[in-house]
Amino acid sequence: MVHATEAYNPENIFAKILRGEIPCTPVYEDDYALAFPDINPQAPVHILVIPKGDYVSAADFAANAPPEMITGFMRALGKVAAAAGLEDSGYRLISNAGPDSHQEVPHLHYHILGGQPVGPLVVK
Ligand code: 5GP
Repeated sequence: MVHATEAYNPENIFAKILRGEIPCTPVYEDDYALAFPDINPQAPVHILVIPKGDYVSAADFAANAPPEMITGFMRALGKVAAAAGLEDSGYRLISNAGPDSHQEVPHLHYHILGGQPVGPLVVK
């Protein structure tokens, strides 16, 4: 289980994807971000967007990333959502952090989910 306050572990799966040690099929890439389909999609569109830097969570990213990285990453996130064609039908962004969220991979990532109604915000 990932703890959102843990130190960054460079052996996590997304770090390996960024280093090219594990393959992915990029749908978008720039200096700040890489986006690729989730290996286990939970909706017709399920894309992961990750920053090109060593950040565990949104809190870690906000506290420690340089301003140009924060700007560049957020722009990339919006571009990927727009390019996925979901602006009209809608979509959900999720970024899990820590045990209660069931974060599996300790590298900051945003899920973009859409292509069908994505259900309630939290499962009761
Ligand atoms: P989390 O639970 O950490 O928010 O989500 C991690 C996501 O990464 C999961 O939805 C899982 O399916 C996805 N994932 C795990 N390993 C891989 C992989 O090797 N490639 C891709 N494309 N997705 C992965």
